[in-house]
Amino acid sequence: MREQRAARPADPYDLLELDRLLTPDERAVRDSVRAFCDRRVGPDIARWFEQGAIEDIRGLTKELGELGVLGMHLDGYGCAGMSAVDYGLTCMELEATDSGLRSLVSVQGSLAMYAIWAFGSEEHKQEWLPRLAAGTAIGCFGLTEPDAGSDPGSMRTVARRDGADWILDGRKMWITNGSVADVAVVWARTEEGVRGFVVPTGTAGFSAVEMKHKMSLRASVTSELVLDAVRLPATAVLPEVRGLRGPLSCLDEARYGIAWGAMGAARSAFTSALAYAGDRVQFDRPISSFQLTQAKLTDMALELAKGTLLALHLGRAKDERGLRAEQISFGKLNNTRAALEICRTARTILGANGISLEYPVIRHANNLESILTYEGTVEMHTLIIGQALTGQPAFR
Ligand code: FAD
Repeated sequence: MREQRAARPADPYDLLELDRLLTPDERAVRDSVRAFCDRRVGPDIARWFEQGAIEDIRGLTKELGELGVLGMHLDGYGCAGMSAVDYGLTCMELEATDSGLRSLVSVQGSLAMYAIWAFGSEEHKQEWLPRLAAGTAIGCFGLTEPDAGSDPGSMRTVARRDGADWILDGRKMWITNGSVADVAVVWARTEEGVRGFVVPTGTAGFSAVEMKHKMSLRASVTSELVLDAVRLPATAVLPEVRGLRGPLSCLDEARYGIAWGAMGAARSAFTSALAYAGDRVQFDRPISSFQLTQAKLTDMALELAKGTLLALHLGRAKDERGLRAEQISFGKLNNTRAALEICRTARTILGANGISLEYPVIRHANNLESILTYEGTVEMHTLIIGQALTGQPAFR
């Protein structure tokens, strides 16, 4: 009788043996972040998502600081000075747990800390970076406004001079970590163009209100910031940048991490679906034995491996020579789109269980709806790549 079952490879989750492309040190970084996530966050994350709140976010942030992942790709001021690949692998593990966890780390390290590290004064760096790296302080990044999302150049938040001081007025929307932050990097229109300000959140006139009713990124704090005649000293402005290049270069840092992170969420959904398909019996056979299920699993494995290779390629290039904006868009666009498709397909394999928080799949799929939109929507990244291909900007 013909043997029905062929031997499976040692690791069906890594058919291409991409693991071999990593150095032992890189694997060690990845494994330590994975172990932390499995121990500290994994057991609670579905409940946090359901509640719409991370329990003890301050304690968790401090532990992430002790793990060394906050601003880990920056040098000095208490930051770990790791490579872009190490940071990417970390984002992948964090997001395999939940996109909200990766967002907490991305906003802290790639947006708030990077802005201060790249464009701040020596005093800004000394005051904030060690605490943000240790996780004893939380940072947020305020760019988006109610009427300025994809087009941040239309922002209305203004900063005007009053003697030597600055006065900030305006509103920021959808700000991750906003109402738990100790410091906000706020971008505002000035007479000299867009400038960034380091705003301690205890400053009079600053308030942050948590935004509720999200069906995505529920295990993440999202807030509206209100700046009502916030008086700041002359030294509050980030001295080293003017114009939209400031916020956009911070976004590039975070978008790079998302290209990796999205593959983490996709890997988690794929792993669930493959295991489920092997266990679930219908018509007297495991559903993994049906050709239609195998076609889905095969497509998921292909996209997951291609997206992971793309992220690793970008990471190696970033470490060697840096990345151009359209290269980062390539990774963010492809990998968020692919990850969402993988999660949706995984959901179908789990049938009705696919919509339950007992499994991570619907949580990842819902989270990825935010990831698809924030840090530049699908359309914005398409236009960035389109401009690189044709030389013609089609944004307006
Ligand atoms: P819009 O800009 O209004 O876009 C709506 C639709 O129109 C999109 O599909 C868009 O692609 C399309 N569109 C717009 N212009 C064009 C065009 N020229 N051509 C074709 N299509 C176009 N922002 C921060 O500053 N800090 C944060 O920490 C932060 N965290 C976030 C967390 C979450 C959970 C979410 C959901 C958002 C967060 N954001 C944050 C905001 C996010 O960056 C914006 O939502 C995003 O930039 C899109 O802006 P918008 O929502 O105003 O959509």
